[in-house]
Amino acid sequence: MRDYTFYFIFSILLICCYSCVQDQHLTDETPPNIIVIFTDDHAKNATSIYGSDLIQTTNIDRIGKEGIVFTNSFVTNSICGPSRAVLLTGKYSHINGFKDNHDQFDTSQETFPKLLQRNGYETSIVGKWHLKNKPTGFDYWNILIGQGHYYNPTFVNNGDTLDYEGYVTDITTDLALDVLENRDQNKPFCLFYHHKAPHRNWMPDSKHFDEFADKDIPFPETFYDDYSSRTSAAHLQDMEVVNMNLSNDFKLQPQHYESHTGTGGMATFNAEVGWAGNYNRMNAEQKAAWDERYDPIGESFKEAKLSGEALDKWKITRYLRDYLACVKSVDNNIGRVLDYLDKNELTENTIVIYTSDQGFYLGEHGWYDKRFMYEESFGTPHVMRYPKKIKAGQLSDEFVVNIDHAATLLDYAGIEVPAEIQGTSIRPLCEASTPDNWRQSVYYHYYQSTGWHTVKKHYGVRTNRYKLINYYEDNEWELYDLDTDPNELSNEYANADYAQIVLDMKLELRRLQQEYKDDSFL
Ligand code: CA
Repeated sequence: MRDYTFYFIFSILLICCYSCVQDQHLTDETPPNIIVIFTDDHAKNATSIYGSDLIQTTNIDRIGKEGIVFTNSFVTNSICGPSRAVLLTGKYSHINGFKDNHDQFDTSQETFPKLLQRNGYETSIVGKWHLKNKPTGFDYWNILIGQGHYYNPTFVNNGDTLDYEGYVTDITTDLALDVLENRDQNKPFCLFYHHKAPHRNWMPDSKHFDEFADKDIPFPETFYDDYSSRTSAAHLQDMEVVNMNLSNDFKLQPQHYESHTGTGGMATFNAEVGWAGNYNRMNAEQKAAWDERYDPIGESFKEAKLSGEALDKWKITRYLRDYLACVKSVDNNIGRVLDYLDKNELTENTIVIYTSDQGFYLGEHGWYDKRFMYEESFGTPHVMRYPKKIKAGQLSDEFVVNIDHAATLLDYAGIEVPAEIQGTSIRPLCEASTPDNWRQSVYYHYYQSTGWHTVKKHYGVRTNRYKLINYYEDNEWELYDLDTDPNELSNEYANADYAQIVLDMKLELRRLQQEYKDDSFL
């Protein structure tokens, strides 16, 4: 009898202890794990949760459906390196010092991964870094060199250079899963899972060769924008789909064309040499699969001798079929990470953010690339999931900006947000309590006028209805009424009916420049 009593009491104690451990594991105070999934050049228009009918991005959509979708998420400076510096610091480019891709990030400055690390987090980054310096604030880093390569990429693993065999999106994901599998179980983790894809030159994985092979790609509504009411900047850009190069962009081999065409955004870049370099990274097996898919495309191009609109259609089709296949690979690989979280009971207490360093043109205005403050590249996909604190199925159209990530994640981690951070925690938006004084306008500043694509420097402000842009080196202005002209085709700056709006928008612009301490244009 005494033995039974002992076992009974012992069992009750065991259950109590187990419950305590479980409770401890899931208390409100338990710091969340964090995964920042960051892609390069992914447009909202190629994300099904934003209404794209070009592609199904099932796993990215899943993050949004199980959390919150931001329909008005913007970047401060629409280009790769600067956007990454903004993510790390929560500060505009003129403050963090990385204004364009010619700069080098000052890694001695404060970043939110450093703050997480000092507060007990295990921090890691895998994939694209592109800040031209060794990462700081990460316990583990394994990063691509510069832009990296799609096939058989070289990574730098905490200082050691390593060549990998395979496709970059798969490899980056393998590394992310390794980080999760080998994490310190006594610490919360923050993983930066940063893809190269879908950056130019859009070389798909052979697994996805067939998926978009026959996909009809319609011309975007604004493909033949003639820039008639715009200032000189739109006329001077070199980022038109029709000027992509036959080799590196469309992957034709020399035997497939009589003469090579396309400026490709930089006339001095030897695209044929660039393409040969990318192609020759592939091993024999990869090349065989590639040739089987792409040689017939080249042969039929050579035979068809297309011109005019038919040639334009061929180009937008070729561009987007490859771009979408690269996005598909990202989406499938994100599914592997979400599955890992599920299988390891990490889903509930892990914040997962999916976003891109900026948006991208998929032929709108005739363009590829980014840089301009127009909606396609100023906006970016942005979904976020955290089952413990964020209710599923939410959608927010409030203005959120990439300066907000640092403050948001520190807030959720229970770490004081330094006053120097210029962004604001979007936690209230995620938890259905939007403050009355939430921002009503967004400030933008782009700097890289030299090198690729020749887009003039500009700053601007966007409100719910209007957008004012100043190409300030020549003091050329544009004003768009997004209610009546959502495609931004009609510059109303000189229209007398908008004179008061222009004045109001200029005041708002100056107010934001003071608030963010931006005098870098002077
Ligand atoms: Ca980018």
